[in-house]
Amino acid sequence: MIEEFEAQYNNRYQILKGLKAQGKRLIGWVCTYVPEEIIHAAGMHPFRIVGRESDTPLANAYLYSNICSFTRSCLEEGLNRNLSFMDGLVTTNTCDHIRRLYDVWFKYIDTPYKKILAQPCTTSQSCLSYFKQEFIQFREELQRHFQVEITDTALKESIKLFNHMRSLLKRLYLLRKLDPPPISGEEVCQVVMAGMVLPKEGYITLLESLLKRLESRQPRSPKNGQPRLMVIGSELDNPIYIKIIEDSGTLVVADDLCCGSRYFWDLVEEDKDPIEALAGRYLTKMPCARMHPSSSRVLLLKTLAQEFNVEGVIYQSIKFCDLHAGIFPVIKAGFDDLGIPVLKLEREYLLAGAGQTKTRIQAFLEMLKEQ
Ligand code: SF4
Repeated sequence: MIEEFEAQYNNRYQILKGLKAQGKRLIGWVCTYVPEEIIHAAGMHPFRIVGRESDTPLANAYLYSNICSFTRSCLEEGLNRNLSFMDGLVTTNTCDHIRRLYDVWFKYIDTPYKKILAQPCTTSQSCLSYFKQEFIQFREELQRHFQVEITDTALKESIKLFNHMRSLLKRLYLLRKLDPPPISGEEVCQVVMAGMVLPKEGYITLLESLLKRLESRQPRSPKNGQPRLMVIGSELDNPIYIKIIEDSGTLVVADDLCCGSRYFWDLVEEDKDPIEALAGRYLTKMPCARMHPSSSRVLLLKTLAQEFNVEGVIYQSIKFCDLHAGIFPVIKAGFDDLGIPVLKLEREYLLAGAGQTKTRIQAFLEMLKEQ
């Protein structure tokens, strides 16, 4: 069953090109703060841009050497024309690295429509009003550029569809509270990644049948000695990284990742003005390291760790990711309060250095077992 998600995800460029051949416009997005529903309500297909397991010689020529390797890898996909089928690129001002990605894309890649949304860092009332204006402008720009109409009715339908997908993903995540969970962390990562690129309608059907099978499975007997871990931090879209962690003898049962729970945890209110509801959801959704104050994020992470019975945390951050590396001491202090050990791993977006990662995780496990 997971193979289907994996196959479709791995075949995503072919699927996207197929949609394009049917006349669908394709908008690639980079950050989970981009309101996919507005794009979808315009009759277009939003999908997440990720990099791939290869070197980035073209991007290296355009970016400073201290730009993170995720950004570099995404830009490489643009520069080498793997994404030339895209009708638009949309991102937010997530971090300085993504801003530079946008700058270079804007100047050197001929994607017809390019947009960077200005997203506030706090959730105050004035920030909410500002973000709502930003979404109103985005809607108007899309209408103008693509000569389409984005009606309130279409927005509400898209919100419903995306909420449905989010609720199913949350149901999947809640199964991970079981001991042992009926699905591995690696598999969950694969399922979520597919959801970010495939058309939601077909994806929801796949997800529903996966849930049916998982929920009707006989509970397995607890696996003694396999610590339950939570993975937190920078962009992590490769299920193999989670597999490396689990192959060391652990169960990854929760996460705080933009390719995980941060993508779908919160719903959009359906009985409100759609743009206001979207601005509210995207501004106050499960926060990433760019949002302030960090205290509310720490509180949320502690609650999640307790609910999912987490015994250890892997905090991975991509080299030069100042956002996630900078906030680490605050997050660690939160878990220290609960007596949950945290392992910090610095890594590259590519899987190079997996051997060293394995050794660090094994040492962490030994420490957990001794506790
Ligand atoms: S991994 Fe960190 S530095 Fe790179 S794009 Fe994401 S937030 Fe920015």
